[in-house]
Amino acid sequence: MLPPIENKNHNMMNNQLIELLSNCTLCPRECRANRFNKTGYCGMPATVYGARAALHLWEEPCITGKEGSGTVFFTGCTLRCVFCQNHNIANGSVGKEITIEHLSEIFLSLQEKGATNINLVTPTHYVPQIVHALKIAKQNGLILPIIYNTSGYEKVSTLKLLDGFIDVYLPDFKYMEEDLALRYSNAKDYPTIAKEALKEMVRQVGSPTFKKDRIVRGVIVRHLVLPGHRTDSKKILRYLYETYHDTIFLSIMNQYTPLTGLTDYPEINRKVTKREYNDVIDYAIALGITNAFMQEGQTASESFIPEFSFEGI
Ligand code: SF4
Repeated sequence: MLPPIENKNHNMMNNQLIELLSNCTLCPRECRANRFNKTGYCGMPATVYGARAALHLWEEPCITGKEGSGTVFFTGCTLRCVFCQNHNIANGSVGKEITIEHLSEIFLSLQEKGATNINLVTPTHYVPQIVHALKIAKQNGLILPIIYNTSGYEKVSTLKLLDGFIDVYLPDFKYMEEDLALRYSNAKDYPTIAKEALKEMVRQVGSPTFKKDRIVRGVIVRHLVLPGHRTDSKKILRYLYETYHDTIFLSIMNQYTPLTGLTDYPEINRKVTKREYNDVIDYAIALGITNAFMQEGQTASESFIPEFSFEGI
């Protein structure tokens, strides 16, 4: 488990950021935890914790680029899906403390290593600290596009804190049915929240812009197809296409990996079949979706889940 809470970032924060973390309503859980002396649903204090900061080659090609995406995996999560592929860091059991100043140095170090971009993974509960670190890093020469890689369970007011700092939003859209959102993520309001969040993301960064096949601005929405839930996948694709047409990209993923501990959820305790995935892809094509990434071959493998050994932290 993480050590007792001790905030070492106080001197790096302005009053507004301290206020946000003292009565935390950053995500839709709205715990109102004072994260300087306790934790809320996300399980994380005011101090930032991370598990890995390294070049990552397994994102969509326009994000990975040549050398890899400069991915920073943050510890803790506001959603905590039962099938989480990164459960060790989502539940807070793997993490190393990072001061705000060091976080800014991590961003710069990834830039020096040739990263295509800075990719902030599961950042929601650290938004104020990240904004602060980005300000420092930009003053010190950070010029890479910044990607906000999120579950999609985001409050519009928190996203507004990021306006001007994020170039590419990379949200999931996990469920359209409230029952599924409740069963797998304990968040019945996920569909409503994710829709509003996506609207704000598109407002901030607009249509996708590419430079040499690399995305530098815009929104890519990821959808992970779950075993046995093709109908929900199709509802999501229809909603996204009818609402946004070609102003966003979609990434339709088949890499769902059933990990241990899913005995209470037998219906998703298997991989997605080729037939299921192809059916969802055929539906997307029939709808007229062209701005989309899809995965070929058998990508449901634990090898796609990186090792969280504090590399680069
Ligand atoms: S970020 Fe964490 S503490 Fe803050 S409202 Fe969300 S779950 Fe609660």
